[in-house]
Amino acid sequence: MKVCGGTSYTPGAGGNWVCSTTTDCKTGKILDETDCKFVYDDPWGDDDDDPWDGGGGDDDDPWDGGGGGDDGGDDDDDDDDDDLTICSRTVERQVEDLSGNAGTWTCIQTYYCKSGILLNQDCRFEKAKCEVTSATLAPLPLTVKPGENIILQVDLVKTGNVTDIEYEFEAYFDGGWKSLGPKSTSNTLIYPVRVVGHIIFRVTVRYTCNGNYYVIDSNAQPVLAQYCLEDFMSSYQFDMQDAWHKTVAATQADHLNHEFGFDLQFDGTGGVGTSATPPMPPPTYTLVHFSNVATCAALVNQSTTITSNPYGAQPEIGDIWTVGNYHTHPPLTYCGNQYYRTPGPSAAPYDMGRSSHYPHVVRDYDVLEVRGGHAINLPTKDYVYHAHCTTR
Ligand SMILES: [Zn+2]
Repeated sequence: MKVCGGTSYTPGAGGNWVCSTTTDCKTGKILDETDCKFVYDDPWGDDDDDPWDGGGGDDDDPWDGGGGGDDGGDDDDDDDDDDLTICSRTVERQVEDLSGNAGTWTCIQTYYCKSGILLNQDCRFEKAKCEVTSATLAPLPLTVKPGENIILQVDLVKTGNVTDIEYEFEAYFDGGWKSLGPKSTSNTLIYPVRVVGHIIFRVTVRYTCNGNYYVIDSNAQPVLAQYCLEDFMSSYQFDMQDAWHKTVAATQADHLNHEFGFDLQFDGTGGVGTSATPPMPPPTYTLVHFSNVATCAALVNQSTTITSNPYGAQPEIGDIWTVGNYHTHPPLTYCGNQYYRTPGPSAAPYDMGRSSHYPHVVRDYDVLEVRGGHAINLPTKDYVYHAHCTTR
């Protein structure tokens, strides 16, 4: 029989036994194995990412075997008679690279306690998590005046190497989510509220992790945009007084039956978003004036400019809404004694028959009955009726 030499590799936990062999040249059968050493797997192999190889400060490198031993083990039992106590330890190494392999190696190692010579190790690699775990929209006021700025700010909780973050600010209005502008890399948007009614805000966040694309929505926050009587009365006192002065002056001039007034329109047009280029104009409030004249015998009726009221048709974000109405009632100073009326809003289908979804004010005399021939400078009163604030 011819005898040949060779090397055998026998897998073991965390590596291989490597032995010199003698074999039957003809059959390849192993006749003898000598000089066996256990060679441990290096989880990093030979590539350059191996943090054990880099960094210079390798004093705690578990592959060095602690006490300066040989990673390949030691088969010379005679030298280790006093080193048979075996210890174990867990070693963790975090890998931070930019190719998507961030993670942690955890190795459970057993070694000779005294020499530190490594006997065995079981290593596992766990990829670092990469995700946006939450996107939180900062609290918003429950109610705002239409046109007021609100600050939409979303804060992210992230783990790992989250990249390419994009924010899309959105509002739910009239049955659908609408984008408030182009996608942004800023987590903040100052939004002048362009609606009357209930609106819900959220932010959709898009990002990548390790080359994969993800989407997460923030929590949603409702806001009620409403215009109220107090705003109306405090903002337009001059115009209300002026309408009354015109009423008196016109009545004195021609002895007919005059009323003056205006609608207050909130204009949220100019586009849905605010971040478009060029920026959208801010929402505005406009008074639309009207006046009517009639004889003493005829009814004088308020005339209202019809816009998208805060009810009815389903306007988009960005529309014109009537949010207030003011008018005067005519003095009957130059009418006959047979003409009279109860002061305050007229019965339906006139004042009381009009939209009830926003504040109305009528300036009339503060008396029980307005009868033809009264003094024109009797005290007046602002009668308020219909909704205290816009409803929708
Ligand atoms: Zn009226």
